[in-house]
Amino acid sequence: MAHTKQRKRRRRKHIVIILIVLLLTVGAGAGILLKEGLSSDVVAKDGQEATASVDGTPWNLILVNKWNRLPSNYKIELTTLSNGQSVDQRIYPALQQMFDDARQAGIYPIVGSGFRTEKKQKSLMKEKIADYKAKGLSDQEAKEKAEAWVALPGTSEHQLGLGVDINADGVYSTGDQVYQWMEQNSYKYGFIRRYPPDKTDITGVINEPWHFRYVGTDAAAQIHNRGITLEEYLDQVHS
Ligand SMILES: [Zn+2]
Repeated sequence: MAHTKQRKRRRRKHIVIILIVLLLTVGAGAGILLKEGLSSDVVAKDGQEATASVDGTPWNLILVNKWNRLPSNYKIELTTLSNGQSVDQRIYPALQQMFDDARQAGIYPIVGSGFRTEKKQKSLMKEKIADYKAKGLSDQEAKEKAEAWVALPGTSEHQLGLGVDINADGVYSTGDQVYQWMEQNSYKYGFIRRYPPDKTDITGVINEPWHFRYVGTDAAAQIHNRGITLEEYLDQVHS
């Protein structure tokens, strides 16, 4: 009888120790999350089979611009980041690695805007047009100006989940520091600066130092080293 009690007590002691260890582990985990909370870390995934290729073009090289609309029925599997933005889950590991390395180098980027739905893109366009009209521009002028800044719904890389606007956290880094680091290093992780200032007639988009697109490390290295755009890269690959 006394023996069983003792064993029970010992078992209870074990459970208490396990609980303490668990609490400490969870606490340490939370600490890491808070520290990493400066940028974006994975918190959730939603399940859907992502499109692997369209007309023979692998997903990471799919071209979406003014002249090439988002493929119909394009499916994306998203990873949601800790700040509520989301990206195609296939680019998440590279994005996280890039952010980890940037922080190691004392640069603190955030994902200002990741995946956008068609609806979101439409509302951004509406807001921009309203902004210009409020400044006294005519309907037509406001529309034209807005379209220089915001991609027409169906023509934004943000709808692919492969385009990300990368900004500074505004505390530890400035925009220029982040853009500069990204311009020099992003290709190592498969991301390219998508809209350089001297290529606007090819990309159809004005200079956007914050917008990066995932294309994979091979294409990114070539595009970076040769100073070309995704449009030019695809032209050369296909010709
Ligand atoms: Zn963008």
